[in-house]
Amino acid sequence: MIKETRDYANTRALVLGMGRSGTAAAKALARLGADVSVTDSNQTATEASADELTGLGVKNVAWKTNGSMARGYDIVVVSPGVAINSAAVKMAKRSRAEVIGELELAYRLTAHPIIAVTGTNGKSTVVTLLGEIFSAAGIPNIVAGNIGLPMVDAIQGLAPQAVIIAEVSSFQLETVIEFRPKIGILLNITPDHLDRHGTMFAYQDVKTKLFAQQTNEDFAVINLDDELAAEVMDVVPSTVVPYSIYKATDRGVFVDGGRIWAVLPPRYMPVVDGVVADLALQGAHNLENVLAAAAAALLWGIPAARVTEAVQAFKGLAHRVERVTEIDGVVYFDDSKATNPDATRRAIEAFGEPVVLLAGGRNKGMDFSLLIPILKERVKAVVAFGESADEIAAVVAEAGPGRGVELARAATMHEAVAAARDLASPGDVVLLSPGCASFDMYPGYAARGDDFQAEVRQLNIISQPPNGNG
Ligand code: ADP
Repeated sequence: MIKETRDYANTRALVLGMGRSGTAAAKALARLGADVSVTDSNQTATEASADELTGLGVKNVAWKTNGSMARGYDIVVVSPGVAINSAAVKMAKRSRAEVIGELELAYRLTAHPIIAVTGTNGKSTVVTLLGEIFSAAGIPNIVAGNIGLPMVDAIQGLAPQAVIIAEVSSFQLETVIEFRPKIGILLNITPDHLDRHGTMFAYQDVKTKLFAQQTNEDFAVINLDDELAAEVMDVVPSTVVPYSIYKATDRGVFVDGGRIWAVLPPRYMPVVDGVVADLALQGAHNLENVLAAAAAALLWGIPAARVTEAVQAFKGLAHRVERVTEIDGVVYFDDSKATNPDATRRAIEAFGEPVVLLAGGRNKGMDFSLLIPILKERVKAVVAFGESADEIAAVVAEAGPGRGVELARAATMHEAVAAARDLASPGDVVLLSPGCASFDMYPGYAARGDDFQAEVRQLNIISQPPNGNG
């Protein structure tokens, strides 16, 4: 179902940023007949996209994103990587262009219903789980957005009954105007990207935009256990569906007596949706993710039994508290996707065993002190690496007195894994959960996780006795 309410034939469009979603937006606009220009400040990274786009009749205006080149357009599509307060975006607004993002563009082009998931952590897990639940229930769906498939691509050729399940980042929410998901899900708001958003208040404000265009026919599924997310309940215009792993509430989805309960509109009849102990996913944070996904699926009318089956079958995603292997009584877990301190805190909390933590990388403007209580409580030793090793070492020093959290430093993943092996005893867990971005040492979190897993497997080979029978 393509909604063709707007005519782009005489539109002068500029796409700022030629990453994945910018390239997809430029192509979509060119297909609609707009006069499209593109630009990116990073020539080396985007030259291939530029060549492909010029082949489609798109103009490449300059390898710049300065102010003056953004003048004279009707519409400017800003990629998530371009700051909303950059000179080019300011100029575009001043010259009366409509400034939107690729998510907003896709929304304007499709009539398919959207379930949109945002939050600091857990988005990919929840959209993937939702996709599996919908597929298990026989409902055509596509999982798209920030998870890797641009929305403007995802909306092409969808089955008539298909539901779009969209992962939405805070950067994408900066540029929505009309975007109105049928169900919006807000998982949590904890410190991240403060180098871009400035304050937690600004970050919370941007997350609130997910619900801004909803009406009381739409739903806002919100985590009651997360302080800043729960505050948003007071300002949403839609029907609020809270969820909680701690509080049994009179409506919403919650845990009571080891079971998941749902009390949902329109009938508000209690429904049992599974038993907590039957989940394959580890940790309280993942139980929260399950409640969020179950709430949306049940609101869609999927029977509780189908939801339960799909949730029980879901094993989670790679690099999110992923079990690698066990060596000499120590189990190694890869949580490379933890790129902010709260994800690290939640990963540590998922274990009852003492944890040897590998942490560090590129800090995105965050204060690691929120880790101090959990370091004291559960962490035996920390191996600090990467650009932020000193900052990590500083919180370990603060946590240390009284509990004796040991500290080691490593220059490479090889050294980090070797140090962790030396610090761990049988019964411990070694957890890579960096709390930082990976870009100081790797092209992305997946490469960092893969490197960790390769180093751990190498240990396994080393620790095997000769001939395998010793
Ligand atoms: P996102 O797409 O929001 O980055 P992911 O599902 O990829 O979320 O998980 C990112 C990181 O956050 C992983 O380290 C994961 O273990 C952790 N995580 C997942 N769900 C939650 C949650 N609900 N609260 C806190 N941390 C979470």
